[in-house]
Amino acid sequence: MARYTGPVCRLCRREKMKLFLKGAKCDTMKCPIERRPYPPGEHGRGRMRESEYLLQLREKQKARRIYGVLEKQFRNLYKEANRRGGITGENLLRMLEMRLDNVVFRAGWGSSRAQGRQLVRHGHVNVNGRRVTIPSYQVRKGDVVEMRDKARRMIVLRHNLDTLDRLTPPWLESGDDSFRVTVLDEPRREHIDVPVRESLIVELYSK
Ligand code: SF4
Repeated sequence: MARYTGPVCRLCRREKMKLFLKGAKCDTMKCPIERRPYPPGEHGRGRMRESEYLLQLREKQKARRIYGVLEKQFRNLYKEANRRGGITGENLLRMLEMRLDNVVFRAGWGSSRAQGRQLVRHGHVNVNGRRVTIPSYQVRKGDVVEMRDKARRMIVLRHNLDTLDRLTPPWLESGDDSFRVTVLDEPRREHIDVPVRESLIVELYSK
């Protein structure tokens, strides 16, 4: 599955906020947003005309970039969220949150969602005892996600567990050994702490 391979700090600067795409670097003064908090490019510091469409577009791009999803896949997720009952925007965020790479990130194994994605792609993650290598895999209530034995000895994983100190969200239950989480339930909106106004995304796609 395709993924964005360009410079990621540029994406944060485009959204004029930290999206925390690079793990440890994001909490240091090396973060480019600290020095250049304006959009990249020749016209980055120019005046941009505000419009309703621009607001909606930026919100959608922000969500895509936070979860590392390309446009086509994001639109397909929206269609599925719209097809399900309930509030479409919340469904969309819930489905993004229940991606396997995001679960690896939330569990504190990956310093960023991109690293979570890499751990999944490299075959280090099991779901219900079976290896799953698809980052977009949707976990379900009751699923047990764990790092495989060999991966548990990886320095990067141990480093992340020691230094990140990330709290497991209420919809995940961490096992005793920190290498296993159980999906207790689907996340509710208040459990998803991403700075995205999902209603604007719905407005954009419903035009
Ligand atoms: Fe964004 Fe992190 Fe880069 Fe800062 S260091 S611009 S938060 S990806």
